[in-house]
Amino acid sequence: MISEYLRNVARCPLCHAGGASGTNGAHPPLEPAGDGLRCPTCQRVYPAQGDRGFLDLRPPAETFDKLTDYADEAFHQRAGSLKPLFLSARIKMDMMSKMLEPTSSDRVLDIGCGKGQFLYYNRPSCGQLVGIDAGTNFAPEPLATVDLARGDIRLLPFDTGSFDKAYSLDVLEHLDEEGVIAMLTEARRVLRPGGKLFLYSHVMMSSKLAVFQRGVNRLVHWLDRRGLVDNGPERERKSDHLNAMKSYEQLDAVLARTGFRIAKIRYYNVFFKALFEDLLLPVVEHNFFKKKADPDNADNEHHHHGHDHDHHHDSTKPDVGRWAYPPLALASTIMKLDVVLFGRVRTGPFFLLLEAV
Ligand SMILES: [Zn+2]
Repeated sequence: MISEYLRNVARCPLCHAGGASGTNGAHPPLEPAGDGLRCPTCQRVYPAQGDRGFLDLRPPAETFDKLTDYADEAFHQRAGSLKPLFLSARIKMDMMSKMLEPTSSDRVLDIGCGKGQFLYYNRPSCGQLVGIDAGTNFAPEPLATVDLARGDIRLLPFDTGSFDKAYSLDVLEHLDEEGVIAMLTEARRVLRPGGKLFLYSHVMMSSKLAVFQRGVNRLVHWLDRRGLVDNGPERERKSDHLNAMKSYEQLDAVLARTGFRIAKIRYYNVFFKALFEDLLLPVVEHNFFKKKADPDNADNEHHHHGHDHDHHHDSTKPDVGRWAYPPLALASTIMKLDVVLFGRVRTGPFFLLLEAV
């Protein structure tokens, strides 16, 4: 949706963000233009899209050389209805709530919101909630109930200091180092001083505990080659990873440079996650449940623009029924042990709470 709040905080990404204007705090809001908004400085129009479900606040295509695969039109499929959050999605959501502690008076930004599932499930605990993503693959529930914008997270189209809290899950690894710095600089700018940013991402190192996960990965790879699991979706998701943050030293330097200090960090050693989500669930899904083709996506299969991998894995996801929710909820609860037991053992994946200084 596009509320008055979103219309008020929206700014021209060209004239306002990234210091292009360099003006002394005089940043005029956008003006109404049809269903969308117009920049009073450069006259660029930012239309409402998706039957007015979101604002298109992207800078012109030539602003950045590199765009994520997710900005590619071929990547766009209509996300189906949201399912409850289970497994590692549940863990990320719970860790975010616990560390970021959003309240009903907080203005919260989801940076790289994807289909908007975290936005949707966060609504009850936040005040104003806005999501921004490079793509338009928003699910129907967030489209109807949460402020959404399409834009580039390296040039956030929002007014300075307009959010109390922000979070970004599974996003940093899709950016190059310059992109990580730009995204964090922009996140810092749109947060008020003392504002909080929660990140879930990883650096390229691992603890000794990761030996179990590597074993599981090798086993899944072996099963994949024998047609006993389909590891395609996971490979595809990782194919857009740039993994610019190699070490915690590099991450620390980037954080210091972008105006953040670490308030709290927990690590994600994935023993139970590897067992349930990476091994058992794919095997059970692949071998015991019929795949249900989604007619909406069937004809998109031929529209890849130079990508030889399948972008439409959601369309072949088996449709597990509601009966599967209790076992998935139980597995999700057991998976919390990964954080309870190993959360202080330093490894690549991390839950990070930052404070804007
Ligand atoms: Zn402008």
